[in-house]
Amino acid sequence: MRNARPSSGAREVVVREDSLCRVSYLSVDYRSEDGEVHALSSVSLEIRRKEILALVGESGCGKSTLALSIIGLLPAQNSRILSGQILFEGKDLLSLSGKQMQKIRGTGIAMIFQEPLSALHPVLKIREQLGEAISIRRSRQGGHSLDQVFSYKPRASEFRGPLKRLVNLPSRRRYPKEVEDEMIASLKLVRIPDPERILNQYPFELSGGMRQRVAIAMALSENPGLLIADEPTTALDVTTQAQVLRLMKELAEKGETSLLIITHDLGVAAQVADRIVVMYAGEVVEEATIQELFSRPLHPYTKALLACLPKGSKKDGPLGSIPGSIPDLRKSFEWCPFVERCQYAMERCGREHPALEGDERHSVSCFLYS
Ligand code: ATP
Ligand code: SF4
Repeated sequence: MRNARPSSGAREVVVREDSLCRVSYLSVDYRSEDGEVHALSSVSLEIRRKEILALVGESGCGKSTLALSIIGLLPAQNSRILSGQILFEGKDLLSLSGKQMQKIRGTGIAMIFQEPLSALHPVLKIREQLGEAISIRRSRQGGHSLDQVFSYKPRASEFRGPLKRLVNLPSRRRYPKEVEDEMIASLKLVRIPDPERILNQYPFELSGGMRQRVAIAMALSENPGLLIADEPTTALDVTTQAQVLRLMKELAEKGETSLLIITHDLGVAAQVADRIVVMYAGEVVEEATIQELFSRPLHPYTKALLACLPKGSKKDGPLGSIPGSIPDLRKSFEWCPFVERCQYAMERCGREHPALEGDERHSVSCFLYS
């Protein structure tokens, strides 16, 4: 029953001309010791070319699961895609082999995470990591073979102590001039001052903001059509957060990259996004342009999120909290999943599931509007 219900996408799927990535009726479960967790229930959304889409919602509503589904990195050991389709540049991602998906990750879709250290190798200098990313992209594009690109390989005898075990890592390579030039250019692009010096540093020698800029440079060096940023500024102080957000917005506007920014912070979404998708309990409950959502929020959950922003600076603060908590995702909701926390709940809300209805500018799943 759950898998068949297009709860978050009852609208007919219309693929727009400027569609880059279209997720349709995607349902994903995780196996856990306590039972099956229905992390995504029939989720549909579209990421358009050259737009910034924010995916917003409380912790545990399924944002990361959606991102990992798109980039093909769901944990193999306990996740299961029950139904749905993900079209990226016309390709059906869920039908691709592991190897084909790896190629998409290298050239079409890239991801950055909350803690950039997780994307950076701790014992390799920035030069080796960025050089590796650029070289791999160049070799994929057919410019050089990797053997040509790496003109220097270290000998085991050059390493001491624990580093000896890491001898196979791409350390101490020299790169052709065009790769060196591209490294410098990509660090300049993300406004890193003195890029030559930064290239010779290790990740632990950089500040959190600098590390995130390097992670963005590495992701962009793959020239992706879609960059997914999962809580990219949560670990940063407010000033650095604003700088990194501004930078990501500028880069998306300048280039050909669309950005899917995942955040629990409506203030972050307001700073960068063109459109917002609000998720609750594994479903899309509202979708609108940024202006629409802030001026005319419809879903009671979205209104509650907005009410949690600090007064006087509605667009700049972290989310407060809404009374109650998100429901147990082991349940299948044949009713409105927000019913237990909704001040407008009606009798119908406890026995029927609302569908997402509306138009391109604004849609919502709530019986107050249908
Ligand atoms: P957060 O902002 O905290 O990362 P989220 O909105 O990204 O939350 P998900 O991480 O996608 O939400 O989690 C959705 C649901 O799936 C949650 O109930 C979570 O506990 C569960 N879940 C996520 N990853 C796993 C996993 N690997 N194994 C089992 N359950 C998982
Ligand atoms: Fe509230 Fe009912 Fe709307 Fe759900 S459908 S958000 S319970 S009013």
